[in-house]
Amino acid sequence: MFTISTEASFDAAHFLKGYNGKCHNLHGHRWRVVVFAQKEQLCEDEQNRGMVFDFSELKDVLKAMADDLDHSLIYETGSLKEKTVEALKEEDFRMNEVPFRPTAENFSKYFYDEITAKGYDVRRVDVYETPNNCASYEA
Ligand SMILES: [Zn+2]
Repeated sequence: MFTISTEASFDAAHFLKGYNGKCHNLHGHRWRVVVFAQKEQLCEDEQNRGMVFDFSELKDVLKAMADDLDHSLIYETGSLKEKTVEALKEEDFRMNEVPFRPTAENFSKYFYDEITAKGYDVRRVDVYETPNNCASYEA
């Protein structure tokens, strides 16, 4: 089995509603995402011969997802009062509502699912919330 990996980073704020500790407060991270994609056999077409995938395509997919989250507030549906969301949007803040608690663990599955849906055989996704703390999802 061949594996390639590529990574991207984004800066974003989040908070964990219902968490008893300092992560309950709004705070930011530089999130680092590393995607491992695999394939049994290498490509044989002239363009990609000897490659698992075209690296730049996978890199572009990941970068587009990271750019979408960059410099935004990521919050779980229902975790902020509607009037708070409205007020933040009125201030033109970039908001990303997600249907899950925005933990590194959930982000790893989010990236895994989205990139898999684009046709890649993803082996694992690592999401670093800090340089020392990483959560992974693999099938
Ligand atoms: Zn955090």
